[in-house]
Amino acid sequence: MLRFTELDQSYPAKRPAKERRKDFDEIYGPFNPKAGADQAARCSQCGVPFCQSGCPLHNDIPDWLMLAAEGRMEEAWERSSATSTMPEICGRICPQDRLCEGSCVIEQSGHGAVTIGAVETHITETAWKEGWIQPIRVKRETGFSVGVVGAGPAGLAAAERLREQGHSVTIYDRHDRAGGLLIYGIPNFKLDKSVVERRTQRLQKSGVAFQLNTELGRDVSLEELRERHDAVFLAIGTYKARALTCPGAGSDGLIPALDYLTASNRRGFGETIADEARLQAKGRKVVVIGGGDTAMDCVRTAIRQGAASVTCLYRRDRENMPGSLREVTHAEEEGVVFEWLSAPLALKGDATTLSGVRVQRMGLGAPDRDGRRQPIVLEGAETDLDGDLVIAALGYEAEDVDAACGGGGPVLTPRGTVRVTERCRTSIPGVYAGGDIVRGASLVVWAIKDGQDAAATIHADLMARAESAQTRELEPAE
Ligand SMILES: Cc1cc2nc3c(=O)[nH]c(=O)nc-3n(C[C@H](O)[C@H](O)[C@H](O)COP(=O)(O)OP(=O)(O)OC[C@H]3O[C@@H](n4cnc5c(N)ncnc54)[C@H](O)[C@@H]3O)c2cc1C
Ligand code: SF4
Repeated sequence: MLRFTELDQSYPAKRPAKERRKDFDEIYGPFNPKAGADQAARCSQCGVPFCQSGCPLHNDIPDWLMLAAEGRMEEAWERSSATSTMPEICGRICPQDRLCEGSCVIEQSGHGAVTIGAVETHITETAWKEGWIQPIRVKRETGFSVGVVGAGPAGLAAAERLREQGHSVTIYDRHDRAGGLLIYGIPNFKLDKSVVERRTQRLQKSGVAFQLNTELGRDVSLEELRERHDAVFLAIGTYKARALTCPGAGSDGLIPALDYLTASNRRGFGETIADEARLQAKGRKVVVIGGGDTAMDCVRTAIRQGAASVTCLYRRDRENMPGSLREVTHAEEEGVVFEWLSAPLALKGDATTLSGVRVQRMGLGAPDRDGRRQPIVLEGAETDLDGDLVIAALGYEAEDVDAACGGGGPVLTPRGTVRVTERCRTSIPGVYAGGDIVRGASLVVWAIKDGQDAAATIHADLMARAESAQTRELEPAE
């Protein structure tokens, strides 16, 4: 260990931009065993591991790095999977620069952080290859049943932990495939679909039931689910797209980012897209409005579809973007043009088709509460940008949860997200919630944490219920 002074930071090989522009395959290859062990051995084994504090799951990072460095891969995997149901997914798509790796002391000392995410992926990919990851073998069925609404990372994580405890679990989702945004949001070049499907198939083989094409509020009510199950976990994410308000924003030519990404992901599954002409970037001048992860996924998807040009319009500068800077770098390498400090003033075109964007140039003012500098309008600084496919990627809010729950839903926050206690309980007994529908649009790793935490609370509540029922049975009748 502590080899950071003699070994440079290195990531698994990244495919050249020229090559990856042409396909949707993941851009990083795997570590070979020696490179994985060497990179793990750079860890300084801090007494107080800041990387662990920087990880929402509090993963035992120094421990599994040490085990991986010593070639004890099965033990490394056991340690890693004890705190995370999807380490190989987090290793691929967590914004590590803002989480574990951003807190690594080696990074602070100028040597370049331990490549924690890449080693995490390497450990669990080795586990899959070696056959260490098998369906869950339940020791004792509890007889309790839990309904999980939403098959995204929060729902899947909860289902896995609940099944491990011996509960019967049914996952309901309105989509035709399980995975939530891991399947229909995030593109293959960041996270191959087979990686997600491998996880859902394992849950199926573990006895978890999936009822897909089933929407809460349309096909099933919360009341019915509460009757059917001993506990219900709501993990339905946030899907109401934030609206663009400038003139022209009402045109059908303005494409919501998730429509665009879902169509691209469905195409990847070999499906025919009904709205193909509207949702295909090939040969078109694409303008994406927004600066988060979703915007980055749109611009990089458009490049791969063979767009004539791809421009990202963002009202702050590179340093003040909400998205991961690593993703911006990938996008720049692949040929995306960034128009920083630029906001849409109006969309040009008619009710069905757009031809461009009138752009307002911006400056930066004082930082806001999050420390990001506020954009300010530079009067008179306007310009025009051509674009015949304009995509809005401005973020997501909660849909109408109360309507989905038939008017009898849990107490909500002013933002429309579900209000929970620290332990994922909602205002309705036996109903729990987690993931984006509680936090607002967030990250996969936080959704996994919520799913795992909710499972622990549900298990504790069900066991307490069983115990009090048993006590009542044992009490002598009056
Ligand atoms: C394009 C895009 C890219 C992203 N990239 C990253 C990234 O690189 N790294 C990262 O960490 N995070 C990323 N995120 C954020 C991340 O995907 C989310 O934070 C995470 O998926 C939230 O998990 P969840 O389980 O709470 O919700 P979701 O993944 O949204 O899953 C919710 C599920 O509930 C289902 N559902 C909704 N309503 C109902 C209903 N009424 N009845 C039945 N089912 C319902 C949905 O169909 C969905 O399957 C990205 C998000 C987007 C949109
Ligand atoms: S889960 Fe995310 S933050 Fe935690 S160690 Fe893995 S990559 Fe880092």
